[in-house]
Amino acid sequence: MADVIVIGAGIIGAACAWRLAQAGVRVTLLERTAPAAGASQAALGVLQFHAMPGAHPAYQHLSLRSRELYPAWLAELAETTGERVPYFAGGQLKLAFAEADWPELEALLAANEALGLPVERAGADECLLLEPALNPTLLGGVFLPADAWVDNTALTLALAKAAQRAGACLERVAVTAIEQAGGRVTGVRAAGQHYAADWVVLAAGCWSSQIAGVPALPVQPVRGQALAVAGRPVRHVVASSHGYLVPKTTEQTLVGATVEAVGYDEATTLGGLAQVAAAGLEISPRLAGGAFLGAWAGLRPATPDGRPCLGPFAALPNLIAAAGHFRNGILQAPATAEIVCVLVAGAPLAADISGLNPDREGWV
Ligand SMILES: Cc1cc2nc3c(=O)[nH]c(=O)nc-3n(C[C@H](O)[C@H](O)[C@H](O)COP(=O)(O)OP(=O)(O)OC[C@H]3O[C@@H](n4cnc5c(N)ncnc54)[C@H](O)[C@@H]3O)c2cc1C
Repeated sequence: MADVIVIGAGIIGAACAWRLAQAGVRVTLLERTAPAAGASQAALGVLQFHAMPGAHPAYQHLSLRSRELYPAWLAELAETTGERVPYFAGGQLKLAFAEADWPELEALLAANEALGLPVERAGADECLLLEPALNPTLLGGVFLPADAWVDNTALTLALAKAAQRAGACLERVAVTAIEQAGGRVTGVRAAGQHYAADWVVLAAGCWSSQIAGVPALPVQPVRGQALAVAGRPVRHVVASSHGYLVPKTTEQTLVGATVEAVGYDEATTLGGLAQVAAAGLEISPRLAGGAFLGAWAGLRPATPDGRPCLGPFAALPNLIAAAGHFRNGILQAPATAEIVCVLVAGAPLAADISGLNPDREGWV
C-alpha cells in the first residue's frame, strides 16, 4: 500500500511526488498519459517572481515563496537527474501601448514597491534602449528584473524522473474514482483495481473535477493557444496587455497566448493564432520575418476567483487538492509541493493558506 497516491504527473503532481518521496514517504504517482502531457507542456514558462496587484495573500505567498525556492530547487534537480533544466533570469518588461494600459502598470509598480521588491519604471526611450526591436509606438513600461523563464516541459520531465529516483513509483493509468469509507479516502480506482493509500493528492490539473467521488470542485479548463517563430528579436520576456514574447536560448521566440473558455477542446484555431500573432507583432514588428515553427494549445486549470485549490477537503481530510493554478502553475510549483509535504507530515504550516481551501466559503 502506498502512503500517498498522487493523481497526475503535470508539474504540480511531479513536484509533490518528488518532495514526498525525498521525505521518505512511499509515493505512487498515477498518470493517465505521460508526465507533462497536460498544461505543463503547453506553458511558456514565464516565472513572474513579483507581487501581483490585488492578489490574495495566500496566492502571493505561493508566488513569492516559489521565488525563494526556485534557484536551489533547480540546482538540486540538476544534481539528482544529471541534467540542467534551461532557465534564464533576465527580467520581464511589461509595456504600455495605450493610455488605458497605465493603471495596471502603476498598480504593479505600487504593489512591488510596497513590498520592497525590485521594479523599475521605464520611459519609452529606456524600453527601446533595452530592447531595440520593440515597436517604437510604445508609450513606456515597467521592468521587473527578478522575473525569469524556465523550460517547463524539461522541468516537469526532470521532476518526474527525480521523483522516481527518490523512490516514487510512476504508473501509467487513468484514475476513474476516489474511494472512501467512513469520511476518509481509502484510495483510488484505476483500471478496475483498488489502489490503497493513507493520503491522496489530487493534482490532475483541469481534469481534477472530473474524477468520480471528488467533492464539488469548480476547477475548469481555460484554453491557451501559443506559437513559436524562429529568431530572437528580443532578449527579455516582454509583455503587453494583449500577449507576450518569451525568447528561448534555442534561437526561437514563443508568443502567447489566448485565454478561452471553450471546455475541454484542445484544438488550435486560425482565429486564436491570428490573435496571438497580432499581439506578438504589436510588441515587436520584427517577428514578421521569422519562420513559423509551430503552434499548440493547452488547458489551464482555472478557478472562479483565480486562486488554486490547495489543502484538504473538509469532508475528506486525507484528500488534498493541489489544482487550479491557472496561469502560474509553473511559477508556483515549488511552494505548492512544500505545502503538500507539510500537510502530509501533519506539521504546522509556515503561512496561512486558508484562502486556498478547496471548499472555501461561497464558491462551491
Ligand atoms: C498557453 C499556456 C501558457 C502558460 N504559460 C505559463 C507561464 O508562462 N508560467 C506559468 O507559471 N504557467 C503558465 N501556464 C499555466 C501552467 O501551464 C499551469 O498552471 C500548470 O501547468 C498546471 O499544472 P498541473 O500539474 O496542475 O496540470 P497539468 O499540467 O495539466 O497536469 C495534469 C496531469 O494530470 C493528468 N491526468 C488528468 N486526469 C487524470 C486521471 N484521471 N488519472 C491520471 N492522470 C490524470 C494529465 O494527463 C496531466 O498530465 C500556461 C498555460 C498555458 C496553456
